[in-house]
Amino acid sequence: MPFSTLGLSPAIQKSVAELGYDQPTEIQQKAIPIVLRGENLIAAAQTGTGKTASFVLPMLEMLSKGETQRKKRIRGLVLVPTRELAIQVEQNVQQYGKHLNLTSLAMYGGVDYAPQKQALIEGVDILVATPGRLIDLYGQHSVHFDEVEMLVLDEADRMLDMGFIEDINKILARLPENIQNLLFSATLSNPVRELARTAIDNPTEISIAKHSASKDSINQYMITVDKDKKSALLTHLLTERDWSQVLIFIGTKHGAAKLVSQLEKRGIAAEAIHSGRNQASRARVLDEFKAGTVKYLVATGVAARGIDIDDLPCVINYDLPFPADDYVHRIGRTGRAGSKGEAVSLVSRDDFKNLCMIESRLGHLIKRKTVEGFTPVKDVPISVLNYVPKHKRQPLES
Ligand code: AMP
Repeated sequence: MPFSTLGLSPAIQKSVAELGYDQPTEIQQKAIPIVLRGENLIAAAQTGTGKTASFVLPMLEMLSKGETQRKKRIRGLVLVPTRELAIQVEQNVQQYGKHLNLTSLAMYGGVDYAPQKQALIEGVDILVATPGRLIDLYGQHSVHFDEVEMLVLDEADRMLDMGFIEDINKILARLPENIQNLLFSATLSNPVRELARTAIDNPTEISIAKHSASKDSINQYMITVDKDKKSALLTHLLTERDWSQVLIFIGTKHGAAKLVSQLEKRGIAAEAIHSGRNQASRARVLDEFKAGTVKYLVATGVAARGIDIDDLPCVINYDLPFPADDYVHRIGRTGRAGSKGEAVSLVSRDDFKNLCMIESRLGHLIKRKTVEGFTPVKDVPISVLNYVPKHKRQPLES
């Protein structure tokens, strides 16, 4: 099915063609006509499926037909969990809307208010924002919601995991009634459904059957290893394998910094992004990684949230994430849009609980391997697939 059948204007089709997209992905085929009909939508789709374009393209289409906004007003609002994702989505808005006359802005915390306030003075058509900063600026009367026509809650599960529910509810309560609402989430868990019930009247629901976790394009496996051998094993893998670039996920910012110095001692240059580094240096490292000058990037899950890099050949979980959906998000960074990828997890006995949750979430066991010289002394037991944790750490699920 070509893009031309979806009801998008020639200007949008042109920018999509310039980006080299041959045809719409499954989520785009399903979502775009629904959004163009003006319906509310709930979509279960993960990063890597092309979900961003599935709401940005029809949003551009609809807003390009209407009036431009007044001062301090916005017409399309996209709420996202992190600043990295805000930047990424807004970049997509610019790319896809290159041949249109719409304005956009990424708004997020951790940086000066002044430039964002300044950008809002003349109004923007599409605002991509993290909930906390948006509420702040709304409270300062820098932005008004009375002309909002469309709302997108992107990565809704993630926003709830990160504790944004109160901010989101405040925003929802201040938006005009009868606007078009779209919600995208990797999973439609109970808290997400609860949010959808309060936020979205009469939605059409779609889901992309294959989640990235089981995409054929990802060679997914784990290597069992003792915890104290992980950094030596990682060094071995980075040296032996022919990966042009690797994104390495790790649980904590201290762990990230330590790992980078351990790799450096063994002659491997790596960089880290985590919440302990300021926004400017995170952005710089990310740009260098995107440009290919940084080959190995060690990232904590939150810092890496908005990273969008095509053709990433390999993602390594240095430790296993919690909650399990993070695993799916993380490995979705590879094997995107048709290219092959490897997703490798280094799993020690300590990771067993998280492993059970991840494999239960996937509904299947992950292929196991050992590497000569690194066979673990402490075995990692085989998971129980219907594992239910005694204490769920996510308060919103209780
Ligand atoms: P997303 O799921 O929105 O994070 O998108 C994943 C990646 O797929 C991004 O790098 C997009 O640029 C790319 N992409 C989105 N739609 C298409 C398409 N129709 N054809 C090829 N690549 C696409």
